[in-house]
Amino acid sequence: MNEFDIIQQFFTRLAKQSSVRQSVGDDCAVIATSQFPADSDLVFSMDTLVCGRHFPSSATPYQIGTRALCTNLSDLAAMGATPLWFTLGLTLPDVSEKWLRDFSKGVYAIADRYNCDLIGGDTTQGSLTITIQVHGVVDRNQVLTRAGVKSGDALWLTGSVGDGAAALNFLLEKNDDRLMLTDDQKHFLTDRFYAPEPKIQLAQKLLPYATAAIDISDGLLADAQHMATASQVDLLFDLERIPLSSVWNDDVTIKPLCKGLEWALTGGDDYQLLFAMPESHLSHLPIDCQQAIYKVGEARASSSAKSEVHCRYQEQLVSWGEPLKKGYQHFAS
Ligand code: ADP
Ligand code: MG
Repeated sequence: MNEFDIIQQFFTRLAKQSSVRQSVGDDCAVIATSQFPADSDLVFSMDTLVCGRHFPSSATPYQIGTRALCTNLSDLAAMGATPLWFTLGLTLPDVSEKWLRDFSKGVYAIADRYNCDLIGGDTTQGSLTITIQVHGVVDRNQVLTRAGVKSGDALWLTGSVGDGAAALNFLLEKNDDRLMLTDDQKHFLTDRFYAPEPKIQLAQKLLPYATAAIDISDGLLADAQHMATASQVDLLFDLERIPLSSVWNDDVTIKPLCKGLEWALTGGDDYQLLFAMPESHLSHLPIDCQQAIYKVGEARASSSAKSEVHCRYQEQLVSWGEPLKKGYQHFAS
């Protein structure tokens, strides 16, 4: 199989959207823009997954395919955007038809779930690396950036944090002895890691009310710091309100600094949204949306020139120093 056979057999499929005038197969994809409302903007985001860094080498090709697209779509969710298309850069050490079949099945399963078409890409030989660029559309007047948080806004999460770190601990067989996982919990964590749900629909319901959003990929505190800096406010989290992973037994009480909380604050790979919204808007949200979100803190005017993230436990400020706030960083020494 050469590069062209691979593309033809595994990555060529009729596009579902009528705006796609040319999909995989020519020098470029061609999209008809006339179908988009005049007040919409296009949004783009790209993420690369390197084997051994962004997923364990034990991952199945299907799991790699679902994770690659889900994590990219999460960035669109964080802007309140609707996914439309994506392109796929695939670097493979060698050609295995079975690997390609399973990988493409994983990619298409997520593409179908979120109604987006694969419209192009590039295929090369090298160490296993997957790059996806997702494209979406958003109402120009409602796009959710990191920069809109206002002092007084409440901070909210769309679900539990720490699942990603717990999943990696289990998948990499580090076997933290405080985690006694049942088979159901192992299944749950594997699914959360390889197919983290991009909060596309939930984010769209938040659009009229939220002031800012970011997705949690590097760790809650680290990503919150990006939001604080962009919005020029301080963000204050109430630790007892943070929804921890359900895999922790009830007897793990939330107190600084249990493992469940540490993973929730610094672990990353959760792909929940952290967003800001005045608490008075809560009752305007649809009931299902109200039930899906957790209030975890508030934004305040910055107390110094540098915008900061703080944690409170039972009304008292907690200080752990910098290391916990860093989250995951490439090239960090
Ligand atoms: P070119 O040499 O003109 O860059 P390529 O041979 O790289 O073209 O690709 C041929 C066609 O296949 C293009 O339409 C390209 O977008 C598409 N393509 C290549 N690799 C992939 C892939 N992994 N997934 C989807 N489409 C791909
Ligand atoms: Mg090319």
